[in-house]
Amino acid sequence: MAEPKENLQMEKIVSLCKRRGFIFQSSEIYGGINGFWDYGPLGAELKRNVKELWWNAMTREREDVAGLEATIIMSPAIWRASGHVDTFSDPMCDCKKCKKRFRADQLCEDQNLTLIKNANGKFELPAGTKCTSCDSKELTEPRPFNLMFKTYVGPVESEDNVAYLRPETAQAIFAQFKNVLETSRQKVPFGIGQIGKAFRNEVTPRNYTFRSREFEQMELEFFIKPDEAIEAIHGSVATVPATGHPGEPQPNWGWQAWHQYWVEERVKFYEGIGLSRDTLGFHHQTPEELAHYARACTDILFKFPFSKKDENGNVKGDELEGIAARSDFDLSQHQRFSGKPMGVFDDELRQAWAKLPKEKQDDLWRRYYENRKNYLTKSAKPDETAEQIQKQATEDANGLAKGQYIPHVIEPSAGVDRLILALIANAYSETTETDAKGKSETTYVMKFHPRIAPIKVGVLPLLKNKPELVKKAIAVRDLLRPWMNVYYDDGGSIGKRYARQDEAGTPFCVTIDFDTLGEKPELLDTVTLRYRDDGRQERLKISELRDWLLARIR
Ligand code: ATP
Repeated sequence: MAEPKENLQMEKIVSLCKRRGFIFQSSEIYGGINGFWDYGPLGAELKRNVKELWWNAMTREREDVAGLEATIIMSPAIWRASGHVDTFSDPMCDCKKCKKRFRADQLCEDQNLTLIKNANGKFELPAGTKCTSCDSKELTEPRPFNLMFKTYVGPVESEDNVAYLRPETAQAIFAQFKNVLETSRQKVPFGIGQIGKAFRNEVTPRNYTFRSREFEQMELEFFIKPDEAIEAIHGSVATVPATGHPGEPQPNWGWQAWHQYWVEERVKFYEGIGLSRDTLGFHHQTPEELAHYARACTDILFKFPFSKKDENGNVKGDELEGIAARSDFDLSQHQRFSGKPMGVFDDELRQAWAKLPKEKQDDLWRRYYENRKNYLTKSAKPDETAEQIQKQATEDANGLAKGQYIPHVIEPSAGVDRLILALIANAYSETTETDAKGKSETTYVMKFHPRIAPIKVGVLPLLKNKPELVKKAIAVRDLLRPWMNVYYDDGGSIGKRYARQDEAGTPFCVTIDFDTLGEKPELLDTVTLRYRDDGRQERLKISELRDWLLARIR
C-alpha cells in the first residue's frame, strides 16, 4: 500500500532534521529512549532564537510583564494544591492479546469513536473499539495514569520524600506571585512570564517531538481584576467585538477583552516569525471540554503534516498553544492550601466602592459572592461544610467591598518544541529538477523567517586557495560575529556551499570575490549578497553590511 502523503512528508522532515543536525533521538547510540529528543547544532540555535523572541515580546518589550525562573522540583504541596496529584492523568488501556498499550481517548479517536465518561467520572470504551495493532476487541477497561514523573529528594526513598518533576511551568508563577508583586513594582493588571522544562510521562509519545516526555514551555500568567471590581471602578466592563484584536489595553477591560487580546497578541507573534494565519487554526473549547473553573480556552493550532482532516476534508490542526481564562482558581487554591494570603489590595476599588449607590453595591456583592461560593463548593475538601463555604464566600465578598480580591488570570501557554516542529514543517521546501540526460536532483531549502533562522549569514570566500580572499572573508566574519550567528565556509564549490546554507535555512550569504579586492576598482570592498529564497544576488558595501543584515534579522 502506498504511504499516505502526510507520513511521507513527515519522514522527509525527520530525515532532514537528522541529516542537517536539527533534531536527534536522545541516547541514540543506545537505541534511543522513547519520547526524548536532543537538538543538534542548528536545532539548538533555532530553539534559542525562538525562546529569546518570546522572552523579548512577552517581557522586555512590555511595561506590564516581569520574568521568573523557578526550579523544576518544587514542594509537592504545590501539585496537591493545583490538582495535579489527584487529577493530572490520562486514561490508559491495554490490548489483552498483543499487550500493546494505548491512551484510551487516542485509541477511540483513531477509529472515529469517542471515549465515554460515565456519571461517576469513570471512562469506558465505546462498543466496537478494537486494538489498532492486532484488531483484537479484548481491551482492558481504561484506568487513569498520572503523568507526573516521581522522584525522591534526599537519600531516603520514602513516601515523605516524594517529589515531582514539574509537568508545567505555570505553578511556580502562582507560588511566587506575591514575591514578584512585591519586588517588581507591578500592579494588577500585570503578568509573569517563564520559559523552562516540563515533564510528562505521556502514555504514548508520538508524532516526532510533538508529544514528548521532556519538553519546554513558554508560559505567561497575566493577572487581572475580577469583572466586579472593574464594574465598581469604571461603571461597566468594556465590550469588545467577538473577533479581531481589541487594541491597546484599557483600564475597563474585563476577562473577555483580556482573553481576546492575548489570543490576538499570540497570533501576531506567530505571524512575526513566519507562521501565516492560514497555517494556523483555532479551537474554542466547548463548555464540556472546559475545566470547571475556566471561563474560556482558545487553542491556537498549527496544520502539521500529520494533522487529521475533518469530514469535509479540511485540516484543523494540532495544538501549539492554549490561551485560557482561568478565573481566580489558581491563586485561590494556593491561598487555601498554603494558608498564605494571595489577594491584593486595590485602593482605587475601595474608594470607588464607597461612592456606589447601595443597589449597585448589593448587586456586585451578590455576584462576587456567588462566584466565590461556586469555586469554594467545587473545590471543597471532604470535611468542609456548606456553612463554612458560605461564611468564607461572605468574607471574600466583604473583602471586595474593602478593595481586596484574588486576581483572575489569563494564561497563554505555549510549547517550545511543538513550535519548533511547526516552524521546521512550515520552512521545509524541496525542488526536484531533471537535467537533459534524465538525471534528477532534489534540492532542499528551509525557508525560515530571518528572525528565527539558526544561521543569519554565510560568509564565503570565492576560492579557498587565495590567501587575500580568505583574509578578507575572515575579516567580514569577525565584523559580523558580535552581532549575529555567522557561518564561515570555504569548502567545496560556491554552488555547493550555497546549497548547504539553503538546507540550513540561512537567509543570506555573502561572497568575497576578486571585485571585493578591487579588481574592478569601483567595486572595492563590496561583496556579493545572495538571497536564499530566490537566489537573487546584489552588490553591497562591506561598511553597510552589518546594518543591512540587522534590519532584516530583528
Ligand atoms: P495536549 O492536549 O496536546 O496533551 P495539553 O492541552 O495537555 O496538550 P497544556 O497542558 O495546555 O497542553 O500545555 C501547554 C502547552 O505545552 C501545549 O499547548 C503544548 O504546546 C505544550 N505541551 C504539552 N504537552 C506536551 C508534550 N507532551 N510534548 C510537547 N509539548 C507539550
